[in-house]
Amino acid sequence: MNHYEKYPLHLTNSLSGKKELFTPVNAGHVGMYVCGPTVYSDVHLGNVRTFLSFDVVFRFLLHLGYKVRYVRNITDVGHLENDGDEGEDKIAKKARLEKLEPMEVVKHYTDDFHEVLRQFNLLPPSIEPSATGHIVEQIEITKKLIDQGLAYVVNGSVYFDVLKYNEHHNYGVLSGRVVEELMESGRKLDSQDEKKNKVDFALWKKASPSHIMRWPSPWSIGFPGWHIECTVMSTKYLGETFDIHGGGIDLKFPHHECEIAQSVGATGKPPVKYWIHSNMLTVNGQKMSKSLGNSFLPRELFSGTHSLLDKGYGPMTVRFFMLQSHYSSTLDFSNEALQAAEKGFRKLSNALVLIKKLVHPGGSIKHTALDDALLKLVDELYKNMCDDFNTAKTLAVLFEMSARIYDFKSGNTSLSDVGSNTFEGFKEGYITFMEAVLGLKSEEEHNQELLSGVIQVLIDLRKKAREDKNYKLSDKIRDDLKAMGVQLMDGKKGEMSYTIE
Ligand code: AMP
Ligand code: ZN
Repeated sequence: MNHYEKYPLHLTNSLSGKKELFTPVNAGHVGMYVCGPTVYSDVHLGNVRTFLSFDVVFRFLLHLGYKVRYVRNITDVGHLENDGDEGEDKIAKKARLEKLEPMEVVKHYTDDFHEVLRQFNLLPPSIEPSATGHIVEQIEITKKLIDQGLAYVVNGSVYFDVLKYNEHHNYGVLSGRVVEELMESGRKLDSQDEKKNKVDFALWKKASPSHIMRWPSPWSIGFPGWHIECTVMSTKYLGETFDIHGGGIDLKFPHHECEIAQSVGATGKPPVKYWIHSNMLTVNGQKMSKSLGNSFLPRELFSGTHSLLDKGYGPMTVRFFMLQSHYSSTLDFSNEALQAAEKGFRKLSNALVLIKKLVHPGGSIKHTALDDALLKLVDELYKNMCDDFNTAKTLAVLFEMSARIYDFKSGNTSLSDVGSNTFEGFKEGYITFMEAVLGLKSEEEHNQELLSGVIQVLIDLRKKAREDKNYKLSDKIRDDLKAMGVQLMDGKKGEMSYTIE
């Protein structure tokens, strides 16, 4: 039996604002799409919080026994400055300033993104499509929307006609925005504007002569709008209506509202059953963002070089810190909060190391109140996670469990006071929820993995140096590692291994 049959999952659907019972479109399968980063700058901790929230959703769905297809895109074109329809493409701008090819910018920041998420122990998605890899599909759906009378062409650009759409549908179902109010607020259209109404948004933009990212289309040489990429990539890999769409709450409007309008306009069907929005990481109550100048980079956190920090903190401590609050609440980042998180996480991670070593002596005894208490804790782990992925309450249960583990270790409670099945279930519950569901490893284990990764990088560098006949460098790598207690050994077939003294 899969866990999901025993533990029904409830989640807050941003469409209704209510907790709903989760029932996937196809029994046993879950399709999940999360808006990925626009790869034009270093990933900051705010970004990490959003992707971490969905990593836990992904992990828990897997643990419940669902077959999950998790699609998280890379935005490598079409996201303009100020999230609007005017201004420079964020990637093209960076490429211009750094005198690089746009795809060099994309590669560099995609690699950075992957590396940061790996450090925080996020699982990779099942598919990671990019917007530039789906230009053809974006053109196709734009044609379809023009054919339906829901989009119009002006000077080689194509815009979605929100007022037309709103005659038969509701532009605002997700965000609660009212079209009439949107039309009233802000500046009026001026004669320079191409749009019929200011609420309309771009599906395709004609490229100005200086715009470097450009593709041919029936309307002009240009580039796709930002919202259409997610409509195309989510429905291509997950179907016209799929289960979960996630993203930071700042994407609810206009990005996700526009996605719904595009899909409903093109297929007549709502694209998503459950919308989930994660809340922002703040610093002194303000959203962490590059443009506000209050962002923390992961490396500043690990090294403690940021002026707001008193020392460095490991990625697992930060992961724990983020999981202490519910994904839908804002979370304020501060030195004090991290210090407290470090203490708390140490308790849990020490208990994790301890319980792995505890072995039940065996033998059957009668079931006691202690057995009930331990099994109830495991049950609560599931129930809390099934209650809208409540990681904060789940961690509270893990703390209770860690106290029991310390009691077993100290002998306050004897292992033979509980049945071996109970103990195994308790042990498995603790380890599984720490590691597989919440993605927390002991910092020590995590550091070991990092260390072997770093040594492997040096081994590869040394191999390359030898191939290049740069023996000075290859010897230096070997000798410096040796001085630190890492002995490299050359194998017969050219492979290399190492021992640590
Ligand atoms: P961007 O870098 O703007 O493309 O954002 C990438 C993702 O990070 C989006 O899903 C945003 O919602 C999310 N994000 C940006 N800033 C924050 C923040 N301060 N806290 C949480 N998520 C954020
Ligand atoms: Zn998106």
